Amino acid sequence: MLAYRTALFGTSGTAKARAAAKAAAGAGREIVDLTAGEIWTDPPESLRTGAIAAIESGVNRYTESIGLERLRNAVAKRLVRETGQLWTADDVAITAGAKQALFNVALALLNPGDEVIIPVPYWTTFPAQVLLAGAQPVFVPARRHSLPPNIDAIRDALTPSTRAIIVNTPGNPTGAVLDRAMLASIAQMALEHDLWIIFDECYGRFVYEPCRHEHILTVMPDARPRTLVINSFSKSLAITGWRLGYFAGPREVISAVKAIQSHTTSNPSVIAQHAVHAFLQNDDGSFERDLRTRLTHSRACGLEILSRLREVPQPTAQGGFYFYLDLSGLLARQPRRGTIKDADDVTRVLLEDSGVAVVSGSAFGDPASLRLSYGVPPDALDAGLEHVVETLNALT
Ligand code: PLP
Repeated sequence: MLAYRTALFGTSGTAKARAAAKAAAGAGREIVDLTAGEIWTDPPESLRTGAIAAIESGVNRYTESIGLERLRNAVAKRLVRETGQLWTADDVAITAGAKQALFNVALALLNPGDEVIIPVPYWTTFPAQVLLAGAQPVFVPARRHSLPPNIDAIRDALTPSTRAIIVNTPGNPTGAVLDRAMLASIAQMALEHDLWIIFDECYGRFVYEPCRHEHILTVMPDARPRTLVINSFSKSLAITGWRLGYFAGPREVISAVKAIQSHTTSNPSVIAQHAVHAFLQNDDGSFERDLRTRLTHSRACGLEILSRLREVPQPTAQGGFYFYLDLSGLLARQPRRGTIKDADDVTRVLLEDSGVAVVSGSAFGDPASLRLSYGVPPDALDAGLEHVVETLNALT
């Protein structure tokens, strides 16, 4: 008999989509995989040589459970630049990816019966982790496709049990970037109602003109005692498999997470920590700039191809590296309504008929949308999107 919590959720919807793509490719089909939440490029050289140097110099042992002090220091310096506030190593915890940061923060902050506000569509792991911590996700629907809910809708969802709100900007899957006014309203609400703000800025390095990534703490410095800043090196350094992220916030939360990590994973990989430290020491901003330039180009080419979709509006794609397509018009009008009812069905048709793997919006609480990653090589992107346009136009 398994524990009750195993029934609270299934495998992540994005992981399932990736597995379906791999299975189809394994069966000998040529598949263009647009499911990935990662970027095709090689990681920075200073990071790779940093990892090799760490191995060669015999760095093999446990580190402090929340990470090497020098790495926490380097992250703190970055936060000083990004927020204009003072941060030190004691305000930072290094984790095995932002996923572990989010999970440990949930374990440290939430009690059974607590409620956490999660705007829809959401990254699939947010509600799963809230449930794992014994609390309840409270979903607030989008204002319009891809647009975050307005503040009144969020306020309407508050109850005496509300304990936290998840703020993800740029958002996965929509790429929506929250502006200063929205961040100020959320921070104001959190202060009034004594809520924690879980500020996930994992895609903060990928924002396209005319939008810019705004930090909730520069918008409302007073929110700092209530804010957990969550970030990852996975996306910005193209090292999803190395597992390194961090969170920064009030010291009582850092110290609770330190205890949690000491009893669970002990510490994030020592080699990954040394490698990222080597990168941060030598970082002149060029790697991330170059990556953003390449993604800007992929985004522009992708939007050009997608502009030929007939019943699907052009995605906004303000940030991240996803196109998030609104299928509601297409689903309502297409003649095969009996067999193609939602985005899961469209995802299946795309994989079976066109060999393109995408993620159905049902993974994000939104069964009338599709998420397409443009973090893939340009040739694959062009081929995949051409097939998507052809297949979706043929449905109408
Ligand atoms: N937060 C968001 C919004 C994400 O999309 C992801 C990964 O896809 C993460 C956090 C976790 O990133 P990682 O654990 O690889 O650092």
